[in-house]
Amino acid sequence: MTDRIDPDYEVIVIGAGVGGIYQIKRLAEAGVKAAVLELAPDLGGTWYWNRYPGARFDSESYTYGYSFSKELLDEWHWKERFSGQPENLRYLNYVAEKFDLRRHMQFDSRVVSSHWDEPAGLWRLTVRNERDGSTRQLTCRFVIMTLGLLSQPTAPRLEGMDSFKGRSFHTYYWPREPVELAGKKVAVIGTGATAIQVIGEIADKVGGLTVFQRRPNWSAPLNNSPISETEMAEIRGRYDEIFAACARSPGGFEHEPDRRGFYEVSREERLALWDQLYDAPGFGIWLANFREIFTDEVANAEFSAYIAERIRRRVKDPKVAEKLIPTDHGFGIQRVPMETRYFEAYNRPNVQLVDLRETPLVRVTEKGLRTTAREYDFDIIVYATGFDAITGAFDHIDIRGTGGQTLRDKWRDSCSTFLGMMIHGFPNLLMPAGPQSGSASTNYPRGIETGVDWCTDFLQCVRKGGHARFEPTAEAEAKWTAHVVGMYSMMLMRKAKGWFTGYNSNVAGHEEGKVRYFVYNGGAPKYVGRINDVAAQGYEGVDLAPIAAKVQ
Ligand code: NAP
Repeated sequence: MTDRIDPDYEVIVIGAGVGGIYQIKRLAEAGVKAAVLELAPDLGGTWYWNRYPGARFDSESYTYGYSFSKELLDEWHWKERFSGQPENLRYLNYVAEKFDLRRHMQFDSRVVSSHWDEPAGLWRLTVRNERDGSTRQLTCRFVIMTLGLLSQPTAPRLEGMDSFKGRSFHTYYWPREPVELAGKKVAVIGTGATAIQVIGEIADKVGGLTVFQRRPNWSAPLNNSPISETEMAEIRGRYDEIFAACARSPGGFEHEPDRRGFYEVSREERLALWDQLYDAPGFGIWLANFREIFTDEVANAEFSAYIAERIRRRVKDPKVAEKLIPTDHGFGIQRVPMETRYFEAYNRPNVQLVDLRETPLVRVTEKGLRTTAREYDFDIIVYATGFDAITGAFDHIDIRGTGGQTLRDKWRDSCSTFLGMMIHGFPNLLMPAGPQSGSASTNYPRGIETGVDWCTDFLQCVRKGGHARFEPTAEAEAKWTAHVVGMYSMMLMRKAKGWFTGYNSNVAGHEEGKVRYFVYNGGAPKYVGRINDVAAQGYEGVDLAPIAAKVQ
């Protein structure tokens, strides 16, 4: 026997972003004693941190918002089809106020470690206060990790980064107070989705802009527009239909793939579709395209050539245009950034492109940046250099399961999960939008709502059944992981150097060469079908037990 300790909380949720906010709502309404720990000074996750100019959804706003409350849907007016960061953060605050969720949240609270105590059947967390550096210990029966997929920013590993006398920051940490850009010489390092948003937004506001590009990304117009009162009323009337369409589509969007076969239609018909998609809003160009784009080299090459031609038409200097066209991967096999005036930025006299493949960066200096060719002076250096994606936020917490094994070690080479929501060896831990879940490759909040609802129902079943401990079996985890890995073999994406496959040149062990199986590629409907089947079969694959069964 062991002393049963009454934990401080039945559930601790880590992270107060889009996932944590909805998770605490579900727990609060179920009467569970729960708290959310958030390392930031306030809620919002991605939308709290990423305040860089141009930060906005590339999901249609009305498909990104929560769907769980008709009242909320009726009250909120999305002002733009692809809403910007300030408005998105206002929305999340509005949700938290409306459902009185703030009282469950503890801010400035960094979870340093989370250790499973088998005899006591609970998790022991060490939490550091980010304001005063003090630490406290908390215990809970269940821990729910809503850490975010892209919440661990990574900067280059360049010599001299501390020596720069101007201002420099990663886009994730763009300052809260306005940054004076007028007349300033600005460097942007990187040309991923973030940089593409920043560059399009600031090119006409800065004195000079120098973009340091290593590998170009395929990108297509966002085609944003305002949403009037009348249009919003029409959208409100369609919400059921909109969410039903999202649930049907692989990506969780209204955009559904063109079901005609690529080779069944003539080239003229393909071009007609692409012309239409290029001028239409959002991810249609990627997700409403022929399905062969993702799986067939020839189809992908034809479409990539089409987009390359579009870039050539928009960039005046042919040499610059060629540098902006990717040659190492086809369109859509890495996450596609959506752009607004991005390519036109390079037609401006105050904007220049430095190709780091020709002249690599050597170091940061007091005045700016040095490449192998020359030194550049700047007032501001912006690192738009991405994230230790998907597992990075987990790696930064010392998470220990049964027998003291660390999650960091378990996931060193890739990751393995059951349904993307549980981990063998880490009992009583849930991840509504974890690695290998349906969220990473879909319209994130749609995946989050599915995951949170499933995890909450599961917890209710555990509690009602008097089970104080759960853990997926090793077999169930191996089977799920094999299923996830198997789907990569069909996708051209497996060859890409992007965060979907765990590539990040700035994180040791994540440099190119090793594919990490982070993403569920089966699409939302298939994922939801699988997890619902597991629930319907009484959570087959999960060992449920009272604490006493595990303790002698
Ligand atoms: P990213 O796609 O990983 O891009 C990072 C960029 O920095 C790449 O161009 C990379 O070049 C470059 N880079 C990294 N280290 C470098 C170094 N040491 N020297 C030179 N260049 C370096 O990161 P991101 O742009 O932040 O986007 C990440 C994800 O966030 C997106 O894919 C998207 O899912 C999400 N996001 C979403 C939105 C939205 O929803 N609206 C907006 C922005 C971002 P290499 O490729 O050569 O490594």
